[in-house]
Amino acid sequence: MTPTTTVMETYAEHLAATYDPYPHGKYMTLLLVRQVASEAMFRTEGSGEPLTTEFVFPGTTATAPIQRVVISKRKQTAVERRVGRELLRQHNLLHMAGKEQRVCALNTNNPCGQCIDCMLYGYAAGGGGAQRSRIITDDAFSLHQAPTIISERQFNALYDNSTMRNPETGEASTSIGTDLYVRPEAVFLDMETLKDVTPDEVRYIVGNVLRASRYGAISSRIGRVHNHLIGVAFSRCELFSNLEWVQHTYDLLRGDQLEPDFPLHVSTITAAAQAAAATLKARVYSDVTFLSADELAAFQHELHELYSDAAALAAMLQRLDTIYPREQPTRSGRRAASESAE
Ligand SMILES: [Zn+2]
Repeated sequence: MTPTTTVMETYAEHLAATYDPYPHGKYMTLLLVRQVASEAMFRTEGSGEPLTTEFVFPGTTATAPIQRVVISKRKQTAVERRVGRELLRQHNLLHMAGKEQRVCALNTNNPCGQCIDCMLYGYAAGGGGAQRSRIITDDAFSLHQAPTIISERQFNALYDNSTMRNPETGEASTSIGTDLYVRPEAVFLDMETLKDVTPDEVRYIVGNVLRASRYGAISSRIGRVHNHLIGVAFSRCELFSNLEWVQHTYDLLRGDQLEPDFPLHVSTITAAAQAAAATLKARVYSDVTFLSADELAAFQHELHELYSDAAALAAMLQRLDTIYPREQPTRSGRRAASESAE
């Protein structure tokens, strides 16, 4: 550990000192530009499930609505959650749960109610015990309208050996169809609001966001998304909505054109999105403190150092793991034996 003060320590008054189950109204918002880097679907490939679009107003003035592609909030956090859980599994920090003492697992009705993931992203145990997610998300809208960023492609259902030929019979696959996908360089503006989190919890959550790279489809060849953290704000309530933010940014980018150019460089979009956020800040019923550009860069540098240093990362995760109460979410609510709490 370095003796210098970290960016999150500088803002300690806006963060929780440790975990407790009561809300304290300390909000930290991550402002993200999600940039599609390879054809993305944001749903299960070949499932026939359509790409989600919504009719919304393009900007802030009353003009004809346009269709925007939507990434549902569930799809965003599910990916980031899995990225974090991989890390916890590596470090043996998913705990045992249930009568049969099986390891904490997602979507199996067997949450441990004690691990970093359960305590941050939330859980509900069948027999009692629950933690609301402290990561608040909203549907994210594409900057450009759907017809500009959507294209059609053929998909082939591949066999186990990743070819179109059945490895046993050598016959060609006939499972071919068409799917709509989101084109590379499409951009979504998205905020994640963290509530009553500690500095280590911030390091874990933002680490998940910055390390997540595959959204939507199952296929490993598509759906690559680059998340750019373009702002961090502290406040006493939630900020504006993703839709307001995207509409203001759209107005700044299109000037007197009907629509902004496509594709636009991410630095151009970032500058407009930051300016739009600064304007919308005035409407929030709270004092709002943004990290300066230098602090934001320093914060990301610290995270990069942390995640590049296996020993420092292990130490941070171990330290974080000890702040949660060791209570099993069982029906009787009795306190379970704890080995690592002291
Ligand atoms: Zn758990």
